[in-house]
Amino acid sequence: MSKKVAVVTGGNKGIGFAIVKELCKAKFPGDIILTARNEKLGKEAVELLKSEGFKAIFQHLDICDQGSAVKLRDFLQNIYGGLDVLVNNAGIAFKNDATEPFGEQAEVTMRTNFWGTLWVSHALLPILRPNARVVNISSFVSKRALDQCSPQLQAKFRDPKLSEEELCGLMGEFVTAAQKGSHQAEGWPNTAYGTTKIGVTVMSMIQARELTKTRAGDGILLNACCPGWVRTDMAGDTAPKSPEEGAQTPTYLALLPVGAKEPHGHLVWDKVVREW
Ligand code: NDP
Repeated sequence: MSKKVAVVTGGNKGIGFAIVKELCKAKFPGDIILTARNEKLGKEAVELLKSEGFKAIFQHLDICDQGSAVKLRDFLQNIYGGLDVLVNNAGIAFKNDATEPFGEQAEVTMRTNFWGTLWVSHALLPILRPNARVVNISSFVSKRALDQCSPQLQAKFRDPKLSEEELCGLMGEFVTAAQKGSHQAEGWPNTAYGTTKIGVTVMSMIQARELTKTRAGDGILLNACCPGWVRTDMAGDTAPKSPEEGAQTPTYLALLPVGAKEPHGHLVWDKVVREW
């Protein structure tokens, strides 16, 4: 049997770093790969963990660079022969007082949060081993943004037959509308980050359905989750949860025991499946 392996994206700080640490604390039975787009920051994070008695291995991954995801896939395939846990954590958000035009914020945020997560998934889901766990870090704001969509858009995002291609089309339509300044008139919410996270939540539901169809009997579970509102560089220092607290739900989903059937294809926060 090959050694088990877990991968966390955006692991150099914030919630991603805390997830790596929680996996170490939970004694994940295999290697834990801390990935980061900045090699220096990633290696420093691994050293920091080492100084605290934990072991992780650094690998480079810029989720916006499809070639970088393919390189990681090849590394995993060569060294481990597959992948057991994937936590798609990396993400960005503009600050509330950002001065970039809304259309630009929409395009840039979409590229990382939606397209980046999708590209990593396209590279790594094909090498998932039986009983693998995938956790896509979305947000409760995806639900809030969904509730602010027009009834037509809400119906599309709740449609169990929506395809990945159709979802990609919708995310593209949002960015185009944001660039024209017509997104609200076209039924979209006035939030770039929230809309990208609708994309991450719905992408997770589609991926889970696909795995159920194509890998039936392999026991793979894939979910989107919200870590809560967490004190990180993204959310600031007034948020109520520590990064360690924010890591609890993602780590719980990453370590669902073999034989578990649920949750699968849901948005989960505080370890509870939420209505979409
Ligand atoms: P941070 O800003 O603290 O950390 C974000 C991480 O993502 C960093 O490691 C960053 O790397 C990395 N990242 C960004 N872009 C890329 C990229 N292209 N390739 C690889 N890594 C990248 O944010 P949080 O820890 O708060 O957020 C983690 C996740 O949790 C995000 O998906 C966020 O949307 C989500 N979330 C956070 C909440 C909160 O309250 N904090 C609430 C709900 C969801 P670098 O250091 O190089 O920038």
